Amino acid sequence: MSDGMKPIIVVGAGPVGLTTALGLDFYRLPFLLFEDDAELSRDTKAGTILTRTLEAFRRYGVADDVLAKALRVDEIGDVERATNTARPSVQTALLSEDTRYPFVINMPQHHLEPILRAAIDARRPGALHLQHRLTAFRQLPDGVVASFETPAGPREVEGSYLLACDGGRSTVRAQLGVAVEGESSDVRCLLVDVKVDLDVANPRDYPYLAYFADPQEWMILVRQPHCWRFLYPLGPGVPEPTTAEFRAKVIRFIGPVDEMEILNTIVYRIHHRVANEWRRDRVFLMGDAAHLITPMWALGLNTGILDAISLPWRLAWVARGWAGDGLLDGYAREQRPVAAEGSGEMAEAARKYMAGEAAAVKAMSGTAWANAATRTMLGVRLGVDDAGDWSMVKTDRGPFRVGDRIPDALLHGPDGRPVRLHDLVDDSFVALYFTDVRRRPAIPADGAGLRHLVVSHRDAPLDGGLRDRSLFDVGDRFRRLVGCPRDTLILVRPDDHIAAIASMRAADAEELYRQQVAHAEACSSR
Ligand SMILES: Cc1cc2nc3c(=O)[nH]c(=O)nc-3n(C[C@H](O)[C@H](O)[C@H](O)COP(=O)(O)OP(=O)(O)OC[C@H]3O[C@@H](n4cnc5c(N)ncnc54)[C@H](O)[C@@H]3O)c2cc1C
Repeated sequence: MSDGMKPIIVVGAGPVGLTTALGLDFYRLPFLLFEDDAELSRDTKAGTILTRTLEAFRRYGVADDVLAKALRVDEIGDVERATNTARPSVQTALLSEDTRYPFVINMPQHHLEPILRAAIDARRPGALHLQHRLTAFRQLPDGVVASFETPAGPREVEGSYLLACDGGRSTVRAQLGVAVEGESSDVRCLLVDVKVDLDVANPRDYPYLAYFADPQEWMILVRQPHCWRFLYPLGPGVPEPTTAEFRAKVIRFIGPVDEMEILNTIVYRIHHRVANEWRRDRVFLMGDAAHLITPMWALGLNTGILDAISLPWRLAWVARGWAGDGLLDGYAREQRPVAAEGSGEMAEAARKYMAGEAAAVKAMSGTAWANAATRTMLGVRLGVDDAGDWSMVKTDRGPFRVGDRIPDALLHGPDGRPVRLHDLVDDSFVALYFTDVRRRPAIPADGAGLRHLVVSHRDAPLDGGLRDRSLFDVGDRFRRLVGCPRDTLILVRPDDHIAAIASMRAADAEELYRQQVAHAEACSSR
């Protein structure tokens, strides 16, 4: 734990606040989590969790608990509704070399949140405070004071930072006076959870996640662990259907069934609204408080988890004295374009695609692999070097670039055991030297926040002095996947994104690491 540091105040125990709290715990930072309600939300909301979110859950120590209660999905189906013709579906197995989770999962948000909460309760008993509604806050030169309304009366808490994960109607955002740009569409979506046996009594072969595209009547079908979910649009001014009309609609899509029970229905508006400022001194906006994005293609919750990947490690680096305050500005600089334009572009593409306007969709990616990487959010490239070179869409499997998420490659460690690259990056920058370890390259000693590892397609000799700092890359596969020549140095950040790529002859990893922090400082002073 960072000694003497005031707790980081996290407001809002939705999926983003809970995941951010787990991230702060992972980096051993002190925090307190405050939630207005007396219990976690039971509302029907997100139902699909993408691969990049699973990678965050792995890092923060909850992936196995989540997976144990989820349905894994390796095919995202695509059916033309009018003709009932299946178009090529997204096969996530294509990502097997890129991630240890080559699938997405279906799990309702109200099943997910208790799992995240249980992990917080176990690791930081007493850190979660329910029935604490943030009413106001003020900033100090070295902290933030937050005021809460509680059943026992008003309460003030002093912290080091305030992370606003308080949802689309964020009190913090309103009190900062931050404007929200974008629009709310007239189109609403209808979500119906139905208990129906499509396994035995009325067997169907739908993938667990399938898009039925149609200019008039598109629909998304999602198999949840406990039911089937139907999602479709409701035009402007159209009244909410009755239960009988819901039933008729469902039957129109799946054909007659012997029995069905409607568990729950919900109507919601489609938004694309993004806060135009994400940081004010010690206060940060995250998740829906920063960006309200259509949930189409699972972009709502999952875009919020990208925020929860980005901010905790930065706070840790600053708290440990390894980086200056400017590193924190990278959060908004990298995440805002992803939410404002990336998710927005994807969401709009999804809407057009579902409405049968596929030709008008620019954001569909080029190859089957790229489509899978895009749809699982593994294809997100962050603008780490200020060149504006970010994207949410992978168009091909070309050489990896600065800002790309590096694959979670399977390598072999010095003791002979398999290792996953992301495990090595968990709490450190890592300089990877893609070279022949037999030639005994000069590799600096590890320092605070930076490790150095050789990746070699020849196993390191036991007497070469580098055995303990080498990874055996069987068949040179990882280097080929990344697409770099031999004798390349790649600096990877703790969030798995590539910070720098350089020739080993010309570059010094320690200098590149220092520049990362200096670069952040330079950007923040503008
Ligand atoms: C019907 C529906 C379907 C959806 N489907 C998907 C999907 O399939 N995939 C997807 O990715 N996303 C989906 N979403 C979007 C997703 O649910 C949201 O993006 C997600 O809940 C955002 O999480 P959050 O933690 O930022 O905010 P929230 O979940 O809104 O949580 C905010 C929390 O802050 C608390 N709070 C608010 N004000 C205060 C205060 N002043 N003091 C203390 N606490 C406060 C609230 O009580 C709440 O618990 C869907 C949304 C809806 C409505």
